[in-house]
Amino acid sequence: MDLSRRSFFKLVGTTTATASLVGVGACKAPLASGEALRVRYTKEVHTTCTFCGVGCGLICHVRDGVIVNAEGDPGHPINEGTLCSKGASHYNMSYVFDRHGRPQPNPKRLTKPLYRAPGSDKYEEKDWEWALAEIAAKIKDTRDRNFEETATVDGRAVTVNRTKAISWLGSAFCTCEENYLFHKMARAMGVIQIDHCARL
Ligand code: SF4
Repeated sequence: MDLSRRSFFKLVGTTTATASLVGVGACKAPLASGEALRVRYTKEVHTTCTFCGVGCGLICHVRDGVIVNAEGDPGHPINEGTLCSKGASHYNMSYVFDRHGRPQPNPKRLTKPLYRAPGSDKYEEKDWEWALAEIAAKIKDTRDRNFEETATVDGRAVTVNRTKAISWLGSAFCTCEENYLFHKMARAMGVIQIDHCARL
């Protein structure tokens, strides 16, 4: 094959781009033999990606309670089989696979709260009970110190019952019902700056 320098770079670029697109499901390529082996003897579970508000459909391959593979669902009307890089990384969140393909807990996954004290240059592990109590105390203190019962509008005092010292960010990891409850709780505390990570 007669290959000029220019044609060589074009070929490498095209091959790399195609491999990347297949990886996130943009091209409907048949499974390579390694992938086919990985999904053998697994159960297919159809679900929705929770990383952002797009709501792409996922097919997870599960063996012995462990996700060993995740792909875009070609029958899903939103993503039609594609996934972004976050969605495509689902099966590596909790587990990584050794050279024999056996799942091992992902050592990079955080399972405990990390706390950096004011002025400190390092994080320390805390338990959930401590973290939740600390967060609750700080929210209450911030709200109480900055609560406004009234504000002046057009020279008149009007009731506002709000705090502008706290902002609340919802999560695409939560269900609609959970986000509804978060919203109610924030409003009840007088928080008026409420947003959601899917808008960012
Ligand atoms: S994170 Fe990516 S794959 Fe998941 S829903 Fe959003 S766009 Fe889809």
